[in-house]
Amino acid sequence: MSDRIRLPEAFAERMRRLLGSEYEAFEAGYELGRQCGLRRNLLKGTEEDFIRTMPFPLERISWAREGYYYDAGVQPGRHVFHEAGAYYIQEPSAMAAVEVLDPRPGERILDLCAAPGGKTTQIAGRMLGQGLLVANEVIGERAKILSQNVERMGVSNCVVCSERPERMAEFFPMFFDRILVDAPCSGEGMFRKEEAARGEWSLENVRMCADRQALILEEAAKMLKPGGVLVYSTCTFSPEENEGTVSTFLQKHGACYIEETGLEKQFSPGRADWIQYPAAGIEHTLRLWPHLLRGEGHYVARLRKGSDGERRERESLKKGIRESRADKKLWKQMEEVMTEELGIGDRWKEEHAGYVMRFGEQIYMMPKDMISLTGMRVLRPGLQLFTEKKNRFEPAHALALSMHSGDMDRCVELDNQEVLAYLRGESLSSRGQKGWIVLSWKGYPVGFGKASGGQIKNHYPKGLRKSL
Ligand code: SAM
Repeated sequence: MSDRIRLPEAFAERMRRLLGSEYEAFEAGYELGRQCGLRRNLLKGTEEDFIRTMPFPLERISWAREGYYYDAGVQPGRHVFHEAGAYYIQEPSAMAAVEVLDPRPGERILDLCAAPGGKTTQIAGRMLGQGLLVANEVIGERAKILSQNVERMGVSNCVVCSERPERMAEFFPMFFDRILVDAPCSGEGMFRKEEAARGEWSLENVRMCADRQALILEEAAKMLKPGGVLVYSTCTFSPEENEGTVSTFLQKHGACYIEETGLEKQFSPGRADWIQYPAAGIEHTLRLWPHLLRGEGHYVARLRKGSDGERRERESLKKGIRESRADKKLWKQMEEVMTEELGIGDRWKEEHAGYVMRFGEQIYMMPKDMISLTGMRVLRPGLQLFTEKKNRFEPAHALALSMHSGDMDRCVELDNQEVLAYLRGESLSSRGQKGWIVLSWKGYPVGFGKASGGQIKNHYPKGLRKSL
């Protein structure tokens, strides 16, 4: 064992007991370098364009269709492509949970423990802007980061909120087609990557995490439609938090059962022999071992609620926003501004047809299926379109990031120097344009500017400005 990675003794002892002769290989895995991954944003451009434009080598991750390894020396987080939402930096194994969730366009999907948003933005990519995605994070400060990532990735159909799971279950009884519970856990699978996780480990914490996971899953179950899919994932090895949590949940929920994932060949099976009362099919849950694949440690289980499960009248109560609640007059007005002042074409408008609503001076497009927000702690009720300022409408940064460069007539492609100056907050010289323009780089919109008198005034949000 190297000096650099010192495992907590009680943890090492426990793993030695569980893994037996495989322990040596497991321990040797800590000597292997960590794997770096990023995920292409499916909401922006084609795979072909992506591969062609990326300035560093990428290698496919076999279990995530939009995932790639990059070399450890590269810094994709300090790149214009990152600011433009072309990709999300995500640990390779962490991409497996959404592959198992298998989100589809048009569905209602909940990511219950969502910050900082790796899986939320992956789900959003699969949904292609259609349907409703609710991303919840109980810790307010973390929910803000989640909300920023949703904006950066140009997601238009996501409501970001910050509630306890019990409150979420009150708002959304039997509402969702798919739910992801990427649970807070003891983080044993991240020991190679995060020193803090090693320092915080204790058996007591493992037990506390398992209790908390049981409570979270209980609430998640209340929000799942009969026939719906619930994916439970952790980044830990402990049987209590994985096979144990899933089996205890299934003992209480007879209508739910474990489903195969289709990824059994790539990963290792869940361990029935590591817990006292394993649920039927626990071997179809997945273990991702860092010594057996190119990624960190994870666990993923796919559960389904039988369609004959408890079905109550209540289900029909939460039907989502009714047309009458959307402000049709406001949409007409916004459509006019989009066409006349921004030159946004029909493709964007048709693809993003939602319900326009006003929240003070902010105008948002909410996903059609969203319920009333009254009483809910919401950070982002959908896609922000405009801020109203003294009888004029200023386009929101989120609107620029939700577009492809061809969506707006007035689009200026920046060169390498110009885009860096733009991200620093500097003005640019105009090329004879007037009014609002979207600025793009290598085909990716990066934000708005307003041209007049030979200058493009910088509208890149002050809080995001940086030198790259
Ligand atoms: N899914 C995220 C992603 O891919 O970026 C990572 C989620 S992380 C593993 C678990 C999250 O659960 C943390 O953001 C944490 O703040 C949140 N959490 C902590 N306690 C919680 C609780 N009691 N109920 C719900 N979520 C909780």
